[in-house]
Amino acid sequence: MATLKDLRGDQPTWCPGCGHFSIMAGIQKSIISLGYEPHEFAIISGIGCSGKVSEYVRTNGYHTIHGRSIPVAQGAKMGNPDLKIIASGGDGDGYGIGLGHFVHASRRNIDMTYIVMDNNIYGLTKGQTSPRSEHGFVTKTTKDGNKEYPVDPISTSIANGATFVAQGFAGDIKQMNDIIARAIEHKGFAHVNIFSPCVTFNKVNTYDFYKEHLTKIEKPFTDRNEALATVRSHQGMVTGVLYEEERAHYQEKLGIDFDMQSCVSGKMN
Ligand code: SF4
Ligand code: MG
Repeated sequence: MATLKDLRGDQPTWCPGCGHFSIMAGIQKSIISLGYEPHEFAIISGIGCSGKVSEYVRTNGYHTIHGRSIPVAQGAKMGNPDLKIIASGGDGDGYGIGLGHFVHASRRNIDMTYIVMDNNIYGLTKGQTSPRSEHGFVTKTTKDGNKEYPVDPISTSIANGATFVAQGFAGDIKQMNDIIARAIEHKGFAHVNIFSPCVTFNKVNTYDFYKEHLTKIEKPFTDRNEALATVRSHQGMVTGVLYEEERAHYQEKLGIDFDMQSCVSGKMN
């Protein structure tokens, strides 16, 4: 059985207190608690502070380009359906340049887990307004306050067909770890948005802010409209598994039982 030592990769260089630490640990602990070995996983990450997770968790992995973790992850899953796939990245990566991929993966329902480390800002590039920054948010790039409104990620995946949608908070480790483990075990596209405070550049969306504003939803909805109504009525400030449905995923629908040996030898089944 895998241990934490087996799953430790490079030494993280994140700022002390960054929410990404507990998300990384949540991924490692979930792999262990579910009884998997590191080689059974591939973690595909995008660009940003969060993107380093594929180097810090020692499984198969690929640190790909900005906003493209989902298409690379889908390719990995199609190439080797036996791999458990986690795509991961930040809010700028996934809900900015990567937003189209996110919508299409939701409706495609490919069997993978997508974990977004949402800190409402661009952290790696030193604190610019992101697609998840609130209206009026002040940064170096929006000195008079953000004139735009943020992307609503969980409503987007619920509305576009994802079969597992959850939201966690890096400051609530027990709930977050439970969500990550359930997402990994879900058959189909599992979207997990995790509020992950950037303690260096975001002085608004702090641990205290989330503790004050978040409401826990105890039971997932099986009706998309009810899930959407609940998310909207709380302005997205909810945590828990919000929507869950059993539905044949993409590869089951295609009937693909891909044999890598046949592929390599040129004999397709
Ligand atoms: Fe985390 Fe922000 Fe530091 Fe990046 S800049 S490591 S997101 S605290
Ligand atoms: Mg970010």
